[in-house]
Amino acid sequence: MVKELVSGFKDFRDSYFEKRSQVLQQLAEKGQSPQTMVICCSDSRVEPSILFGTGPGDLFVVRNVANLVPPFISENNASMGSALEYAVKILRVKDIIVLGHAHCGGVAALCESINNDKTGQDTDNPTDFIENWVDIAKPALLKIDFNHKNEDIEVNSERAVLLYSYNNLLTYPWLNDAVNKNSLEIHAWWLDFKSVMLWEKAKGSNSFIPIEF
Ligand SMILES: [Zn+2]
Repeated sequence: MVKELVSGFKDFRDSYFEKRSQVLQQLAEKGQSPQTMVICCSDSRVEPSILFGTGPGDLFVVRNVANLVPPFISENNASMGSALEYAVKILRVKDIIVLGHAHCGGVAALCESINNDKTGQDTDNPTDFIENWVDIAKPALLKIDFNHKNEDIEVNSERAVLLYSYNNLLTYPWLNDAVNKNSLEIHAWWLDFKSVMLWEKAKGSNSFIPIEF
């Protein structure tokens, strides 16, 4: 696989870079000024640049397990906090998109952790970091009834975690200021790559509607 990556980089240099050398050289010399920040899952199926047809310099991206934004006051927010601070204060991005997705292993791990808490069971696969990390979003799933399993539980859990991250953005004081001054807009999008549909949080509501194009 590593050989294929090196070969892919050669293609990038010979083809992609060659066609856009002026823009890419400018980026190298003058620095980045992306207008949009994307916070998405580390999941290999979620590729923002491919999904949105963007290139180098367009998106400021942070990825982590389950696309989580911890609250401003939290022990676990140094990585996300510094990325948000850089995006809002230095880059002054115009939009922040939290991008959740279907069949998220991180959200599934959180659901399992909550189930184990309720039943008093030990997890089958103890982890050093994953459970502590995804537990950040536990408050998001308090209202989910895991006893009545149905097809919607997975989707509802993923969207609840996504909304939790979206709402936590506003706990960062300078980010909240930028939103109030209308210099920044925040969005919650949820991707289903099986049906190839993109959903967004409706304005003034916690429901999700398909993005029209
Ligand atoms: Zn995920």
